[in-house]
Amino acid sequence: MLLRTGMSLVLTTVLLTPTAHAGPATPPRLPEQTGHGGAVSSVDPDATQIGIDVLRRGGNAVDAAVATAAALGVTDPFSAGIGGGGYFVYYDAHTGRVSTLDGRETAPHAADENLFVENGSPLPFAEAMTSGLAVGVPGTPRTWQQALRKWGTTSLREAMAPAQDLARRGFVVDQTFQTQIANNADRFGDFTSTRDLFLPGGKPPAVGSVFRNPELADTYRELARTGLASLHGGPIGRDVVRTVQHPPVMPGATRNVRPGKMSLLDLARYRVEERQATHVGYRGLDVYSTGPSSGGGTTVGEALNILESTDLSKMSDVDHLHRFIEATKLSFADRNRWVGDPRYSRVPTDALLSQRFADSRACLINPGAVLPAPVAAGDPHDPRPCGAAAQASPTRQDAENTTHLVVTDRWGNAVSYTLTVEAEGGSGIVVPGRGFLLNNELTDFSFVPVTPGVPDPNLPGPGKRSRSSMAPTIVLDRGELAFVVGSPGGATIITTVTQILTLHVDRKLSLLDAIRAPRASQRNSAVTPAEAAFLASAQAEGLGRLGHRFSQVADIGAATAIERLPDGRWRAVAEPSRRGGGAARVVRTG
Ligand code: GLU
Repeated sequence: MLLRTGMSLVLTTVLLTPTAHAGPATPPRLPEQTGHGGAVSSVDPDATQIGIDVLRRGGNAVDAAVATAAALGVTDPFSAGIGGGGYFVYYDAHTGRVSTLDGRETAPHAADENLFVENGSPLPFAEAMTSGLAVGVPGTPRTWQQALRKWGTTSLREAMAPAQDLARRGFVVDQTFQTQIANNADRFGDFTSTRDLFLPGGKPPAVGSVFRNPELADTYRELARTGLASLHGGPIGRDVVRTVQHPPVMPGATRNVRPGKMSLLDLARYRVEERQATHVGYRGLDVYSTGPSSGGGTTVGEALNILESTDLSKMSDVDHLHRFIEATKLSFADRNRWVGDPRYSRVPTDALLSQRFADSRACLINPGAVLPAPVAAGDPHDPRPCGAAAQASPTRQDAENTTHLVVTDRWGNAVSYTLTVEAEGGSGIVVPGRGFLLNNELTDFSFVPVTPGVPDPNLPGPGKRSRSSMAPTIVLDRGELAFVVGSPGGATIITTVTQILTLHVDRKLSLLDAIRAPRASQRNSAVTPAEAAFLASAQAEGLGRLGHRFSQVADIGAATAIERLPDGRWRAVAEPSRRGGGAARVVRTG
């Protein structure tokens, strides 16, 4: 149910209470709640409730984040789950440190830069996305395990138990869940395992019915019992490998589903990488996020550094949005040229985040006219005012899915965690008998160099991570937690997080209003994709006068955030309407 207004919010909450149907009770969807004891915000009420329960029982933010993520694998399996990967950012209130885990999927060791090239040409994206070729080695279970070992207080078994129970007991199907299946019915129907799970009787489950996934519950139990050994070398791993190498295509299906080359050794070798968080100072705040293999932290950071050269607090909305659009245009040019898996090429992370480099890029912005796009990348190794290093490298379009969750606890620790299976529904392939979808993250690689003749750090390679845009963010104010934020949405994650940050910090919008605001997502193209509400605004007209051109797209992002108020309370915030609206809760209201 889309929550467009306060009135429909009330109606929806009423409709989903236990009195409205015979199934399990669904906790309310709430865009904002304020109180004590810690907070959780995710896109899904059941997942948020599970996180809150963990906090209530004395768990910390990491325990609750893993429990919430495991629950999202049940209720939001088309965005995230154990078949995918993600980036986990943790703020430790005791040490004041921000740490990050890179749980990105890796290409199999048999992959090379021609992974998606056939007969000398790149595969059509639509064919690559539903294939064994696109499946990377999942990183999410190891991320949970590592986060708990490093910072948690509970075992993997305990953290996954509520989600296991939820998968067995079932939850009430809402419109978002049904729509995501309907959007994918064509390809889901082409795999025996996916059809059996998500298209019972040949169609998506009805809104209001109860969806159970006992095979996933058993998989969770086996993962926890074996300390993940079953996935990284054991029976679940063998099932994953068989599925990738021999996708369970329906007899009679005409789709050409290319197999992949993932091996059990690939699964056995998988490692989560602990990386230094990216950091920029912005208007006196410290903004931390995740570094390469994601371009999220560097690209948001560079855009903020570009914006910082101007006082945005007093200018008109049109001038502010003009600056915002131009800043992400420039930072995307640099992301496309310089960011990839740092094990495979030298990524100039520090230089991309330097104020000197940002100033050399900000110099290109004309306050009175749009900058023609695509713009060329700058050279962070040798920043010259208004200089350019290379030809323009446009941003490839990618899928826009994923999920973001945030948690804080009574001790003041915080987690900002974005996880994904890439496209909505990932590869479309459920591992038979195991109840979960495999990702198609490897489609985030460039299939061929984006700009002929210019080195592309994002070509496939053996064991390599494809470049992500995920930007789970933590903001400190003089060493104390100020707020945490993030969003799903593929490459739009970067523009969404930047837009929320500048609206909140520069324009003083509340986090809820900053999340609610209509969005535009400029990623170094001549035309800026924007939501209908953005196009209908007076600002869009003003921007048009500066030469901006827009195309209309559906909802961009579905952000979640938590803020620490000056009196010490937490304010949890979730998207009020996009993707059906999220669920923001605190442990104790008031
Ligand atoms: N694969 C995307 C990324 O890592 C996330 C997928 C999505 O948000 O649709 O940036």
